Amino acid sequence: MAVSARFVTLLVLAGCGGPPPAPSPAPADLAPEPRVREAALPPADAPYVVILGVAQDAGHPQAGCTKACCAKAHQDPAAGHRVVSLGLVDGDQRVLIDATPDFRSQLYDLSPSGRLDAVFLTHAHIGHYSGLVHLGREAMGSDAVEVYAMPRMKAFLAADRPWSLLADQGHVSLQDLREDEPVQITDRIQITPFLVPHRDEISETVGYRIQGPDHAVAFVPDIDKWERWDHPVEDLVATVDVALLDATFFANGEIGRDMALIPHPFVSESMARLGDLPPSERAKVWFIHMNHTNPLLGEDGEARRTVRQAGFEVAEEGRFIGL
Ligand SMILES: [Zn+2]
Ligand SMILES: [Zn+2]
Ligand SMILES: [Zn+2]
Repeated sequence: MAVSARFVTLLVLAGCGGPPPAPSPAPADLAPEPRVREAALPPADAPYVVILGVAQDAGHPQAGCTKACCAKAHQDPAAGHRVVSLGLVDGDQRVLIDATPDFRSQLYDLSPSGRLDAVFLTHAHIGHYSGLVHLGREAMGSDAVEVYAMPRMKAFLAADRPWSLLADQGHVSLQDLREDEPVQITDRIQITPFLVPHRDEISETVGYRIQGPDHAVAFVPDIDKWERWDHPVEDLVATVDVALLDATFFANGEIGRDMALIPHPFVSESMARLGDLPPSERAKVWFIHMNHTNPLLGEDGEARRTVRQAGFEVAEEGRFIGL
């Protein structure tokens, strides 16, 4: 079985007697031809991506949050959301994109046996690499798991404790990533990092293009603003079947801090920018990396309905995307 029994059971139960846990379809006049095989169960014969988390780095609930957005999730973990991460599966091979604070349950859902062939990192913000601690001596004590990182990210992991202990003690084997250079990670999956503008205090930041034999997926969990990128996001969307895009905040004013210091494309901005694309292009855009304050994580589902009625999609934990 490719993913944990708990994971599949949840999905199967959710699908009994009703629609699968996939989001409600777009209105008929917007519904595109299905371009990817996505389902409540993983494809049997193709490599695939599984979404292991959808929340921003701090997760949902966020530590210390006393507002309504996190009240229920503090009491009931099932009402919360894990930090954004993708699993890649090809046969018995298991690869993680980003190592999050929710690494323990995400690795189990991806690989109940604990097999982990490689980790690909996007950048050095806490939600994206801190889960590497579980590979070390106090935890799994892994044997040279390949960890792929861009030059600044790799230098940071190699030089700064406690991260440097992971490589020094042989638990990880740091591997070079270079901008726009594909890495063949299994016989059928290729992954290519591309640089994006972000608050690069410690490392550069990349998104990934994941190419399978039949389909491609883009993953851009963090980026400052689409306008600050020298690559039109529309071009990225055009070259893939699913684009998992930064949806940290839904709109300006969402948190009581100066949001100019933590720039992200608001969902409202992304929908405005991409709203004139044909329905088949809009349907490729799946929003991900939601902050605990983002109403897309809300119980009532109203924000999700708004996004879907506009022809876009919201990423959900446990969905499979055939490659
Ligand atoms: Zn992040
Ligand atoms: Zn909250
Ligand atoms: Zn970040």
